[in-house]
Amino acid sequence: MSADLLALSGAEAGALVRAGELSATELFEFWRERAAGDELGSYLWVADGPEGDPPAGSALGGVPVAVKDLFCVEGVPSAAASRILEGYRPPYSATAVTRLREAGAPVLGKTNQDEFAMGSSTENSGFGPVRNPWDPERVPGGSSGGSAAAVAAGTAPWAIGTDTGGSIRQPAALCGVVGLKPTYGAVSRHGMIAFASSLDQCGPLTRNVADAALLTAALVGRDPCDSTSLEHPEGVTLPTAERLEGVRVGIWGFEEEGLDPGVAEQCRRAVALAEELGATVEEIELPHAPHAISAYYVIAPAEASANLARYDGVRYGRRTESDDLLEMYERTRHDYFGEEVRRRIMIGTYALSSGYYEAYYGTAQKVRTRIVEDFRSAFERVDLVITPTSPTVAFKLGERVADPLSMYLSDFYTTPASLAGIPAISIPCGLSEGLPVGLQLIGPAFSESRVLDAAHALERAIGFEGVPRP
Ligand code: GLN
Repeated sequence: MSADLLALSGAEAGALVRAGELSATELFEFWRERAAGDELGSYLWVADGPEGDPPAGSALGGVPVAVKDLFCVEGVPSAAASRILEGYRPPYSATAVTRLREAGAPVLGKTNQDEFAMGSSTENSGFGPVRNPWDPERVPGGSSGGSAAAVAAGTAPWAIGTDTGGSIRQPAALCGVVGLKPTYGAVSRHGMIAFASSLDQCGPLTRNVADAALLTAALVGRDPCDSTSLEHPEGVTLPTAERLEGVRVGIWGFEEEGLDPGVAEQCRRAVALAEELGATVEEIELPHAPHAISAYYVIAPAEASANLARYDGVRYGRRTESDDLLEMYERTRHDYFGEEVRRRIMIGTYALSSGYYEAYYGTAQKVRTRIVEDFRSAFERVDLVITPTSPTVAFKLGERVADPLSMYLSDFYTTPASLAGIPAISIPCGLSEGLPVGLQLIGPAFSESRVLDAAHALERAIGFEGVPRP
């Protein structure tokens, strides 16, 4: 039975529970053991047991979900993988977690991540890195690397993460799983430990597109605790499409200099399949998208510097004692923030300081508006934009740590949709050098159902085989 349980997708397992053919308790115990046996560093905490029976007939059928550490879960360590929040057990749960529980998915564990979601490799965790199940010498991507590795390695049936500039899509691509960043505002951010509030968005990491749709449908909706959240105007439906007739696809970024030839080849193959399924394909221009990384790496650190000011040894987090107040602040923030977090705080504070605000932050916001307009005109011609998700396959641990700029380039294809606040999914589309390649599908705001449908049709045609799970 165990091997069978491992083979089931989230949707399939949930259906068996609903049909009375599988006990939710047995299912939870199976996954709890899998999670507890993880050897990749994917988890920071694993639940002891289930939280009681799932609500009868619930959409998610009692299938447990792995949750990125930065989601507050009442009574459970929630530190955004930062030493400064070590030992923090929140008195409440994030709305995303509550919604999943109400829909029948109890929390399986907290997954490792880059500290405060800053990174593309999960090497910036305050609690040690995560390894890629395809090759343990390589990174799983980041910042939701724990969630991606757990789903790929079969230590979680499905998971949630957050995406600020690519942190769901890029690790999904590098681990060979599906990852969706919904439209900004579609899912409540309440109870997510904040990185950059105008960009942060919660979404699923799953084995397949149907599971991603199922979790997204449970997550979306307005929440009075997050004034930027809103009711999904179209709702999220489960994907059924097998063909792509009538779908106009625009491709972008396939000629980019930094794009690995092996990655380009797999993505092109997938685009050819889209055409075989009936889609029309044309190259499109997004003239300002190449500047997305530059704008993102001003806006995100600027917002982070404001959001992280609260960890000062007084209001939140741990403290290094000193008789001198200023020294206490300095030591606390020096001792418990990691290097990347300190770098971002400095960049962000600088970009927001008087005299530089207009030159950096103001300019970055103008670039952001241009990127929004680029997508708006693209979506007058096409229904979907397709790009590679990551310019390379998973890289070796340590390879980019000393060179932050090379790390930031991992986000070349993901940051445009983040700045525009529009939905984007990464699906596995093949292997290069024996490692997974991700294809990104981007749609207009609130087009989740259409994006998922197209991804579903393509996924069937691609027929990607997941990692062999021991
Ligand atoms: N890699 C990007 C960064 O380091 C994106 C992170 C994210 O989406 N949280 O900021």
